[in-house]
Amino acid sequence: MHRAKKSSAYFDNASAIAAVKEIYRDLAERPIERNCTLKTECCHFVLTGETPYLTKGEALVAAKAVRNTGRKEMPKRVDGACSLLHPRTSRCLIYQDRPFGCRTHFCQAAGGPYARKEVVDLIHRLEEIDQKLDGTGSRDLHSAVGEALKDLRY
Ligand code: SF4
Repeated sequence: MHRAKKSSAYFDNASAIAAVKEIYRDLAERPIERNCTLKTECCHFVLTGETPYLTKGEALVAAKAVRNTGRKEMPKRVDGACSLLHPRTSRCLIYQDRPFGCRTHFCQAAGGPYARKEVVDLIHRLEEIDQKLDGTGSRDLHSAVGEALKDLRY
């Protein structure tokens, strides 16, 4: 059977994870005043009315971090908060590897959302990685990370 040859422009999961982490590092070095104080209000989607959407590379980074906590599946929550917010400690399970949206949007207490023009180049880099992973664009956090956890099993 003939299989289409993947272009060398494609990423494997490990390369994608490294590239996304580089974007997170570049974001942290931007001279933009933001100060996350771990209030986690933005993690209660039912209150904010917003859910982070993740590209495939971001989802892989998050899924790897979930696995590093010893979990193989997304935790379940039924109260409208992010599944990755620990129910007892109220801390993000994957804070160091949290998605781009968790770093740049939602939180007024941290200084408000970034202006798109401040980070649009980084968004484009995330989109390029998504394409190289044969992704289909951004998806809501729970399903994106759940799917990436399955990907990492193989
Ligand atoms: S991934 Fe972490 S920081 Fe982002 S919404 Fe979920 S708990 Fe909050």
